[in-house]
Amino acid sequence: MRELDIKKIRSEFPILDEIVHGKPLVYFDNGATSQKPRMVIDAIDNYYEHVNSNVHRGAHALSDKATELFENARQKVQHFISAKHREEIIWTRGTTESINLVAQTWGEKNIFENDEIIVSTLEHHSNIVPWQLLCQRKNAKLLPITVKPNGELDLAHFKSLISSKTKLVAIGHISNALGVINPVEEIIQVAHENNARVLVDGAQAAPHLKIDVQRLDCDFYAFSGHKMFAPTGIGVLYGKKELLDSMPPWHGGGEMIEKVSFDGTTFNQLPYKFEAGTPNIEGSIALGAAIDYLNQFDRSELANYEKELIEYATEKAKSIPELKIIGSDCNKTSVLSFIMEGMHSQDIGMILDQQGIAVRTGHHCAMPLMQALGLSGTIRASFSFYNTKEEIDLLFEGLEKAKTFLV
Ligand code: PLP
Repeated sequence: MRELDIKKIRSEFPILDEIVHGKPLVYFDNGATSQKPRMVIDAIDNYYEHVNSNVHRGAHALSDKATELFENARQKVQHFISAKHREEIIWTRGTTESINLVAQTWGEKNIFENDEIIVSTLEHHSNIVPWQLLCQRKNAKLLPITVKPNGELDLAHFKSLISSKTKLVAIGHISNALGVINPVEEIIQVAHENNARVLVDGAQAAPHLKIDVQRLDCDFYAFSGHKMFAPTGIGVLYGKKELLDSMPPWHGGGEMIEKVSFDGTTFNQLPYKFEAGTPNIEGSIALGAAIDYLNQFDRSELANYEKELIEYATEKAKSIPELKIIGSDCNKTSVLSFIMEGMHSQDIGMILDQQGIAVRTGHHCAMPLMQALGLSGTIRASFSFYNTKEEIDLLFEGLEKAKTFLV
């Protein structure tokens, strides 16, 4: 197998040369947002320097060019997640907006009193609150699947919850707080056997796993550009065509209409029915560039390297007796979520920051999970393929230093 050239990869991410508090940046907050390769930054520059124009107006050469790049990017996303149809790719601002779109269109049409929606205790707030709001509006019930102490979903509990009342299962592909990979294939199969639809929150999966929505057979899949090396403010909702077709429109405005009159309005076809107003054109094009960037690699090579990083960090963690990993002995991606017994996570985060090491501390927008695990929060070091074992050594040196201040 060809060795990944990590030095070369790092040279393609300009921000990795930053100095923070006098120290070289060690960026371990990839779960919150990833850094951007030069190819993505150049795509944005190129768009504004040579193309900037509104799309789908067909009025002049620049508009035609912008439309071509924008629609090519949609096709790149289609191939990236192996969707059957190009019209199944809806541009949104990110995972949060994608989930809200489904809750407020599909949900408004299909959820009624006493229906049930199943989520899991592992979910990010984005995959809880839109369903909670929908359930309040409709007098429906939101049921959480419990987690085991090691952070794994309790599948037996899921199977005991699902019934003919279940209309939707909304499940994260990978937990942002712990990095645990959920058995979404099995969950989708069981949900479909019970005639329930499934939305997968893929925010943390898109940067790490190869996604195939047809093989998964999920009904909806949501993810954000900024966590997979593209800019903020752009994301995707995938939905099966027949479902998207049957859903009422969401935001009203330009682009989503076919014909408007005061006697009534008719709506545009997919995907435009859900894309009211001027879209994030450069964001879509830059997301396409991020996909081009990733396509240069064999994704499984990147995943194997990230696995090496998490195994290395997990092994090193054994050298600190106070360090307790949260989310262990399970199928997971490159996230080391942990507490340091007797020390506050925020204090550790601040001391690491002083050494140029960026981690995230707190509840990670997963308060129900923290409650279930009896924790106020964790320290999360989330790795990407541009990180190195040497940087992990610096993290552990930083933790030893933090101990000398805090114990
Ligand atoms: N779902 C998961 C699992 C996440 O990790 C995040 C962000 O951290 C979100 C949803 C929300 O993503 P965004 O803020 O990009 O909409």
